[in-house]
Amino acid sequence: MVGADQAPSDATLDWVRRLIGFDTTSRRSNRALIDAAAEYLGAQGCDMTLTTSDDGAKANLFATLVPSSGQRTGGLVLSGHTDVVPVEGQAWTSAPFTAVLRDRRLYGRGSCDMKGFLGVALALVPAFRGMALKEPVHFALSFDEEVGCIGAPLMIADLAARAVRPRACIVGEPTLMQPVIGHKAIRLFRCRVQGRPAHASLPQEGANAIEYAARIIVFIRGLADSLGSKPRGHDFHPPYTTMSIGQVSGGTAANIVAEHCEFVFEHRSLPDEDDDRIEQAIRSFVSREILPEMRTAYPLADVTLEQLATVPAFAGDALEPFTRLVEELTGASAGYVSYCSEAGQFREIGIPTVICGPGSIEQAHRADEWIALGQLAACERFLIDAVDRVCGNAYHG
Ligand SMILES: [Zn+2]
Repeated sequence: MVGADQAPSDATLDWVRRLIGFDTTSRRSNRALIDAAAEYLGAQGCDMTLTTSDDGAKANLFATLVPSSGQRTGGLVLSGHTDVVPVEGQAWTSAPFTAVLRDRRLYGRGSCDMKGFLGVALALVPAFRGMALKEPVHFALSFDEEVGCIGAPLMIADLAARAVRPRACIVGEPTLMQPVIGHKAIRLFRCRVQGRPAHASLPQEGANAIEYAARIIVFIRGLADSLGSKPRGHDFHPPYTTMSIGQVSGGTAANIVAEHCEFVFEHRSLPDEDDDRIEQAIRSFVSREILPEMRTAYPLADVTLEQLATVPAFAGDALEPFTRLVEELTGASAGYVSYCSEAGQFREIGIPTVICGPGSIEQAHRADEWIALGQLAACERFLIDAVDRVCGNAYHG
């Protein structure tokens, strides 16, 4: 491993700084960043494919650095998301979208999650070109990862449709350069409760959407407690499927029976969890306990449950040759994380995948997000070695 006192190249620092400079908060367009990366990768001779959101405001970029042999199949994917989480409400010491170097750390939104990794990958293109590779290096830059891994599936479906079959994929989420081969799945839902308003002095004439929503929330809490009472996924922290209510809104005023209430909740499941069974338990509670009572007060009362996003679990393989290779190159054994990523989506189309990237998840999503220069240097070394081993001629995984 490269020591913590090592410094990354100027090219890496320039790219990471440049990427941080694009405000790619998930709700905004990422096109300026994608255009800059595409212009550079195109000039370096890469083939490129864009897949976009319906309105075209956001894009994934899949670029392939084709070796002199002309081979476009096989090779290694270096994957990262371009979007970042919001900075609103956070107390930043310096402007979040201007990279600042202090105490051997580079500060800025996305420095760690995950423009550090992307900057290293982009800066290394000239080095990869000089390596006389047999197989291609692919760069997969996605949108809308932070809001439910919504962008990458479009790009991954396009790979499958075009029969692009890479040998392996590195997802560069922050792991302190340790290999990670598993995380939980996420399903995110919105529940909308439609009641009937009334004067608060006559609650029996209305159907109080907030009160019914509260009962559904208590039911979900109970479901979560029962899942938590049987820990069985001992590679994961915590070792069971979790559920959490994230947002609630509803009602008009203290003296009005609430007509509307909605809340958003998610569950994070072990890879072998029966997610449909969890959803079904909530739906049958609503149709058994909530709707009949609401509808005796108001026949048009309704409760809808809408799935907003789903991210598959990532269940990598500790014995797979690519996992072994990443363990060998990093000198660390493969582990598991609590956060989600696009790794399960790559794995779903049969690409051996390991999450391994610079920086710590502890620094992600916070004010004054930073990445240590030593981590960027370690990532440079790792990507050179990984590309050499997978895209050179020594790899048979
Ligand atoms: Zn991330």
